Amino acid sequence: MATKIAVKSPLSLNNMIQLKDMNGMDEIVSLCKRRGFIFPGSDIYGGMAGLYDFGPYGVELLNNLKQNWWKHNIQQRADYVGLDSAMFKNPEVWKASGHVDSFSDPMSECKECHTRIRVDKELEKLGVFADEKMTEAEIGKLFDEHKSKIKCPNCKKQNWTAPKKFNLLVKSNLGDFTEQNTDPAYLPGEACQGIYLNFKNVVDTCRVKIPFGIGQIGKAFRNEISPRNFLFRTREFEQADTQYFVRPHKNKEPYERIKQEQWDWLLSLGIKEENLKWHQHENLVFYAKDAWDIEYNYPGNGFDELMGIHDRSDYDLSQHMKFSGTDLEYRDPMTGEKYIPWILETSMGMGRLFLAVLCDAYEQNEERTVLHLSPELAPVKYAVFPLLKNKPDLVKKAKEVFEMLSSRYNCEFDDNGNIGKRYRRQDEIGTPKCITIDFDTLEDDTVTVRDRDTTEQIRINIADL
Ligand code: ATP
Repeated sequence: MATKIAVKSPLSLNNMIQLKDMNGMDEIVSLCKRRGFIFPGSDIYGGMAGLYDFGPYGVELLNNLKQNWWKHNIQQRADYVGLDSAMFKNPEVWKASGHVDSFSDPMSECKECHTRIRVDKELEKLGVFADEKMTEAEIGKLFDEHKSKIKCPNCKKQNWTAPKKFNLLVKSNLGDFTEQNTDPAYLPGEACQGIYLNFKNVVDTCRVKIPFGIGQIGKAFRNEISPRNFLFRTREFEQADTQYFVRPHKNKEPYERIKQEQWDWLLSLGIKEENLKWHQHENLVFYAKDAWDIEYNYPGNGFDELMGIHDRSDYDLSQHMKFSGTDLEYRDPMTGEKYIPWILETSMGMGRLFLAVLCDAYEQNEERTVLHLSPELAPVKYAVFPLLKNKPDLVKKAKEVFEMLSSRYNCEFDDNGNIGKRYRRQDEIGTPKCITIDFDTLEDDTVTVRDRDTTEQIRINIADL
């Protein structure tokens, strides 16, 4: 049995302010810090550029996003399997992949204050087509033509060094006791290499048949020249990747299907369609057949990459076959035909997804700030309140309800401050339902359940929760 009860202040739609109407990212950054979603990395030491820590609510939201991704991309598909490969890999891997020679961004330094900029991104801001695949000479020429329009973001002067390509791989001394570190073990520059390395293992052990995919979520590290825009460009991040292996030349149909599926999945997370758009790469690397990004409209920054969907031909497996000497050809079990599969890749930064989901869930009106996260993604599913904290019977009953629900859901117990304040706190972290235990509960075992989005309250039996 559920009874509706009067609500004092329903949401006024006219007074809603959304992020796009405000300064941009500032509100999200402030909410994230204030409510324990994201903290600057090494905060008590003054931080470190491009590094962030996920706080108690942040890690819940991040884990929910990862679980949702895993369920949608791996578990609910008959033709995909999952993987979790080691972060460190044989140094040859990064030579084979091309990262040691050409995983670099063009950098210029302000001669006045030593601030560094990423030249291709600065040129893009001026509407000049440039990307990291250009040679140092090509990008240097473009920079010379346009540098009079590029001011140092720090000292505002315009005294730049010539652009130099800077390799983004992060080195370690794992297993090296020589101090020369001539053949370093790199931290992963991207997560997907582990999938290529295990292609043969998966084929040999898991009864998979082409076409099939392997997915994994893994850490990536990049010596980004100018980390910026909060979680958008960090030096340590997580990538969720799928690699779909197809027969050579059988790439077109699955590629279009994968593009559509990823778009639909982003919408299913509550990301607004008007904030997404497709961007096709103009300057393809020599082996690629096609490359598209799904871009998100980051507040204060505009449309930029959220996910890459790339048609990569047989490049990755061919390179690893050449460098490792291991036969990575696939043998068709029906025809006996042997070939190197082509690969269709999806790759997305979990931090950028986290940001997009938070931005589109965010709403502020004159009464409150609220995150309209779907119940599946919300960090806390139920908040349980005793009406008064100095009434032991209410507290005891509320603890019983909390224990009952928390065996299945992530719940929060809060007995601090008046009920209105407690509702506001939960609204800010996106808790879908708040449950209040009051004196009537002690009589009839009913509680008040308040809905985050409508602020409507109903009376319901504990047994029906
Ligand atoms: P960008 O052009 O923005 O530097 P990219 O093309 O180098 O990105 P990929 O190497 O294709 O990116 O990586 C796949 C995904 O990983 C991107 O779509 C993005 O979501 C994420 N990603 C890449 N670099 C970063 C970073 N420095 N911080 C956070 N996420 C990142």
